[in-house]
Amino acid sequence: MEHARINIAIDGHSSSGKSTMAKSLAKELNFVYIDTGAMYRAAALFCIKERLIDGNEIDERRIPTAIERMYISFKYNAKTEQSEIHLGGANVETEIRSMEVARRVSLVAAVPEIRHKLVNMQRRMASSGGVVMDGRDIGTVVMPKAQLKFFITAEVEIRAKRRFEELLRKGVETTLGEVLTNIIERDRIDTTRAVAPLRQAKDSIVIDNSNITLDEQFDFLLSHARKVMAVQ
Ligand code: C5P
Repeated sequence: MEHARINIAIDGHSSSGKSTMAKSLAKELNFVYIDTGAMYRAAALFCIKERLIDGNEIDERRIPTAIERMYISFKYNAKTEQSEIHLGGANVETEIRSMEVARRVSLVAAVPEIRHKLVNMQRRMASSGGVVMDGRDIGTVVMPKAQLKFFITAEVEIRAKRRFEELLRKGVETTLGEVLTNIIERDRIDTTRAVAPLRQAKDSIVIDNSNITLDEQFDFLLSHARKVMAVQ
C-alpha cells in the first residue's frame, strides 16, 4: 500500500524513549527519522570546543558570529543503517552522548539564536513530508501542522534507570545518581526556558510508558499512524 507522506512529531521528557520509538516508527513506515536532540547536542559540543561556555555561563555576545561557523549535518551510514550527526564534517555521533555534553546541552538549547538556526534546518528537512521527528518543541514550534503528534513521558526514576543502563552498555562511566540529577535538571531547564519550552501540544496524544513494554507502545503508535495515513 502506498503511504501518505505525513509528518509525525514526537516530543517528551528526557530519556522517555522518544528516539527508540521514533526510529522504529520511521523504519516501519519507510519515513526519514530526524533526531533533533542530536542537533542540540552537536551545538553544545560546538560551544564547548569554541570555549563559549564557562561553568554554567554561555558567552551569548559571541554566539551570533560564532554559529555562522557551526555546520551540522546528518549523513547516512550504510554499515549502521542510521543517519549519523556530523559537526564541521566530522562524525560526532559518539562524542555528543558524553556526560559532558549532557550537562551543557540544555543551557545551549535555551539560547534563542541557536534554536532559530536549528529550527530552520528542521523545517527544511520536514518540508516534503514523510518525516518522524523527535525533540521537545516539534509539535508546538517546528511542525505545528504535523498530522500526528505524540507526547511521551514516564516517571523520572524509571527514565533515569533506563538511561543509566543504556549508558553502561555504551561504556560511558557514570552513576545512577548522576544520571538522575542530570535528567531532573534538563527537564527543569527545558520546561522553564523562555523560548520554545517543552510543552504538550494541545492536539498531541500523551503516552506514559512507565508500565508498558516497548512492543505495546510501538503497536499503539503504529496503529495511530496507520489510522491517520488512511484518511490523508
Ligand atoms: O533528545 P535529547 O535528550 O538527546 O536532547 C538533548 C537536549 O537537547 C534536551 O535536554 C533539550 O535541552 C534539547 N532539545 C531541545 N529541543 C529539541 C530537542 C532537544 O531543546 N527539539
